[in-house]
Amino acid sequence: MSTAQTSVARHWIGGEWADSDEHRESVNPATGQVIGSYAMGGPKEAQAAIDAAKRAFANPAWRTNRLLRARVLNRMADRFEARADDLVELLGLENGKTHDQGRLEVGFAPETLRFNAALALTDTGTNSQVTEGELSLVVRQPVGVAGIIAPWNSPVALGIRSLAPALAAGCTAVMNLPRQTAQTNSLIGELVGGTEELPPGVANTITGGHVTGDVLVRSPDVPTISFTGSTATGKQISAAASANLKRVGLELGGKTPLILFEDADLGQALPIVVSALIVFSGQFCMTGSRLLVHERIADRVRTDLAARLRAVKVGPAADPASEMGPIIDKPNVERIDKLVEDAISQGATVIVRGGPVTDGLLTAGAFYRPTLLQVHDNSMPIVQDEVFGPVLTMQTFRTEAEAIALANDTPYGLSASVFSQDVSLPLRVALALEAGSVWVNDWARLHDQFEEGGFKASGVGRMRGFAVIDDFVEFKHIRLRPGTTPTV
Ligand code: NAD
Repeated sequence: MSTAQTSVARHWIGGEWADSDEHRESVNPATGQVIGSYAMGGPKEAQAAIDAAKRAFANPAWRTNRLLRARVLNRMADRFEARADDLVELLGLENGKTHDQGRLEVGFAPETLRFNAALALTDTGTNSQVTEGELSLVVRQPVGVAGIIAPWNSPVALGIRSLAPALAAGCTAVMNLPRQTAQTNSLIGELVGGTEELPPGVANTITGGHVTGDVLVRSPDVPTISFTGSTATGKQISAAASANLKRVGLELGGKTPLILFEDADLGQALPIVVSALIVFSGQFCMTGSRLLVHERIADRVRTDLAARLRAVKVGPAADPASEMGPIIDKPNVERIDKLVEDAISQGATVIVRGGPVTDGLLTAGAFYRPTLLQVHDNSMPIVQDEVFGPVLTMQTFRTEAEAIALANDTPYGLSASVFSQDVSLPLRVALALEAGSVWVNDWARLHDQFEEGGFKASGVGRMRGFAVIDDFVEFKHIRLRPGTTPTV
């Protein structure tokens, strides 16, 4: 592993490593042990990164050369691919991801970078001869410095999901990465920053938190913010950014329903339901957290699913047998368990209690076993609010209309899964669901060429797909009258 990871994890600003006055410790959530230290960014580092990005944007070398941007993005993809094992290792150590789940996250980065390399070449605008002898061009121009704010639950995939289109558009960028993944951030900085031909200052990374994020959001020199995180923070950012009429892309929280119709193939569906709950230990915006089951198959689902959830092997990333790693830290274990306790006191029935691991070798870590609760009241907080942990509620329905109504009855609208072997029912239901992504007989399948994002309180704008570029470009209409009179 490079020296960047064995010493203090630092920021990458203006084409070089940058330190901070304050150093903090990185902790392995599976053991509570200190695994390194990092420079904690503040307003000074945020401003230095903005200044570097602003200087890099002023130089036309980057923003006017699509060929250069495509080359750089492809090379960056190669660098993430070449160091995938190191990224997976770090995500295991400080983010608690099992190696399989780490590979799932890290695998997104090169694909996203390559898709955006292609977008840098192809997203060029339109032109048309509206009347004879006169031509209209619409050119897309980068807006300037992009502020990117990513959460701790998937810093590699989500940081790159915003950075790649920003760079493809010709913007320069400051990535505000979370303190919980400082060691990983430093490697992201190294892989991004060390890319051949990337001009200094075009891409900067800082490890910080709400203080550095807020500097980006309020800076008049940062005309666009691409934020991934909670709905509560997204609302604060949206309000603060409006002072400068700033563009804001928001990828926020979710409360994904998994709908099991009577004809679902349970042998295929239930392992997917388990994955939807335990991938990233339920700390995934798309975590399947609401199971809606047709009443005629409810008993079978309850018994089978309970056995599967009890059998989930919880453990550290270092153990290859682990199927689910720890929660990000102990305060979050307590927070999740309080939500479960509250739900039980409000009338939820325990099917699998799960909960914090309080005996054996895992006690020192932030482990939480999968939990399944039966609920009848859709207005309960455990159904309405994002838990961000491996807690699944189960409700029954009688009709298709009831299933759709239950699924849509939360403030969120990020994603949904429909399980049925029918041909027309899943499509009919998918069209009626208020969700940005709907999977039929599957969960969390994402592709860079297709838009991803939220309805309602789950977001504004889209990541991935062709719409991803919209957060980072201005459209300019140029009307040409070439000065010649038409020939008759
Ligand atoms: P969070 O909203 O608390 O923080 C996200 C990041 O925002 C932090 O790392 C911090 O640096 C920054 N931040 C916090 N307050 C800020 C402020 N006032 N101004 C500027 N920046 C600020 O979220 P989290 O706990 O880190 O992540 C979990 C949340 O992210 C969940 O709600 C999850 O659903 C959501 N998420 C959404 C997606 C998606 O694509 N829709 C993906 C992953 C996670």
